[in-house]
Amino acid sequence: MPDAAATDTLPILLVPDPRLRAKARPVAAGDADQVRALAPRMLDAMYKAPGIGLAAPQVGAGLRLVVIDLQKEDKPAPMVLVNPEVVAASEELAAREEGCLSLPGQYAEVTRPARVKVRWQELDGTRREIEADGLLATCLQHEIDHLNGVLFVDHISPLKRNMLLRKLAKDLKAKARE
Ligand SMILES: [Zn+2]
Repeated sequence: MPDAAATDTLPILLVPDPRLRAKARPVAAGDADQVRALAPRMLDAMYKAPGIGLAAPQVGAGLRLVVIDLQKEDKPAPMVLVNPEVVAASEELAAREEGCLSLPGQYAEVTRPARVKVRWQELDGTRREIEADGLLATCLQHEIDHLNGVLFVDHISPLKRNMLLRKLAKDLKAKARE
């Protein structure tokens, strides 16, 4: 029988929750059931936010699991990445404005490798590898960073980071008073 709680939208953790700073552990064979249950709930929370990517630590699960949907021609194109890793990155860099569901309303331009090769497993264990550029390259690197406790603000100057984190704290306080 379905658990009532399993139909609720997963809450997304916000900075400075310490769980966002912990290194997630690899998904093992024994995690299969948990991961198969968690992935669709993560996609659901991501769509509702709305966002284009979500990593398991952002919903309090310390597992190397990421969901992404950049939509193709306005149609859903969900990707579920188990144990994703960047195996090669271009020397060429690209700057793109990034945001994060764990830092709502905050954006900054982040410079990262323009192209990356990423390997992962599908939910059924199938091994996948792609070479990505553009928004997908940014998104993959951003989400895989989450698995290592790294946030996009770690890639900007300390001055900008402090400004952004202060603004986030102020925004969240204002929202709590609403
Ligand atoms: Zn993020």
